[in-house]
Amino acid sequence: MSHFSYQDGVLHAESTPLPQIADAFGTPTYVYSKAALLENFNAYANACKGRDALVCYAMKANSNLAILDLLAREGAGFDIVSGGELLRVIAAGGDPGKVIFSGVGKTVGEMKLALEKGILCFNVESIPELHRLNEVAGAMGKRAPVSLRVNPNVDAKTHPYISTGLKSNKFGIAFDDALEAYRTAARLPHLAVVGIDCHIGSQLLDDAPLLEALDKLIDLIDTLAAVGIVLHHLDIGGGIGINYGAAGDDPPVAVGEYLGRLFARIDAWRADKHGGQPIKVIFEPGRSIVGNAGVLLMSVEFLKPGEEKNFCVVDAAMNDMMRPTLYEAWMAVQPVVPRSGKPVTYDIVGPICESGDWLARGRDLSLVPGDLLAMMTAGAYGMTMASNYNTRARPAEVIVDGDQVHLVRKRENPVDLFELESLLK
Ligand SMILES: *Cc1c(COP(=O)(O)O)cnc(C)c1O
Repeated sequence: MSHFSYQDGVLHAESTPLPQIADAFGTPTYVYSKAALLENFNAYANACKGRDALVCYAMKANSNLAILDLLAREGAGFDIVSGGELLRVIAAGGDPGKVIFSGVGKTVGEMKLALEKGILCFNVESIPELHRLNEVAGAMGKRAPVSLRVNPNVDAKTHPYISTGLKSNKFGIAFDDALEAYRTAARLPHLAVVGIDCHIGSQLLDDAPLLEALDKLIDLIDTLAAVGIVLHHLDIGGGIGINYGAAGDDPPVAVGEYLGRLFARIDAWRADKHGGQPIKVIFEPGRSIVGNAGVLLMSVEFLKPGEEKNFCVVDAAMNDMMRPTLYEAWMAVQPVVPRSGKPVTYDIVGPICESGDWLARGRDLSLVPGDLLAMMTAGAYGMTMASNYNTRARPAEVIVDGDQVHLVRKRENPVDLFELESLLK
């Protein structure tokens, strides 16, 4: 069920009319639905009930502290990709013992911080990283828990920028090199080899590539066990896609169905080869937790008719929402209070001095300046990718809970944006 709907001709977040939020907090503003966040997380959590499984929210999708807090209270772990994200988890009251650390470029400082805080596991992506982590852990008198991110070389059939499981991607250890990498890891004295992981890409509409990756990991786990390297967890990554609402798009597989098929395969394998002994399963979903739980609320500044194109200039821009220009992503834009006038075809653009500064193209809308628009399904990879290009203050963020609205990030003040800068002495 969508938690953003028209009620009496006005678009609402849960039972709060969006114009009320624009009046109170201005625009552009990211608006999140608490009910949607919890519903999305619980689709995973419920499918994992009664099993040794952990859902580690991939917080790069949206790392607002209030969202992390809500998910931590539901039992979420977190998939982080930087030391900064770990500090956010801790600030939000999350448990470092449920944190896994992904990413190809972990620094010595980040490794130290994560070891100090006692994270669950490092997802290691290369041999040099194994050696660095071994040294850092040794100097601290610790053993670092590691999982190797294996690149199963399956085609996720998604946008090249968000496809990560092919041989040509920078991520992970090539499948054919994995056995040797595990042997190296097992020899290093300050590492504890605990698991295996993969992440083949984002916005996957079909779970077939994920199940194909699972089969490869299963084979590898058995091969490793045969040489005495016994793994305790299997992490299948994130990646289930969401419905952005473009015409003709296939609906993504439902989370419950995907997890059902995955667990069925894992259970059959454990029964067949491991006497039914379970293995811990970890998921790293990001987009499918927050994507449809947020909209970007914006105002129409000017309408600019042209010979070839009509432009609708809004107060949000590519710095607030990068997805359209970065991935040519199609995102729905809806009028908050639809008008009955004849629609005009617009390109919806921001005020930034770049031709790439567009949010949506060729949309039929009936508008006047001052109207509110909502970019739908904007909760994931929206605010976290926002920048201050053109010295633009980033949007405010609010979470709606029924008819209650909570400001969870103030709108930035442009003066603060150059606070860290100084003139030459
Ligand atoms: C980005 C990322 C995820 C989350 O992907 P979604 O498509 O948002 O679910 C999970 N794991 C890793 C390693 C990632 O880089």
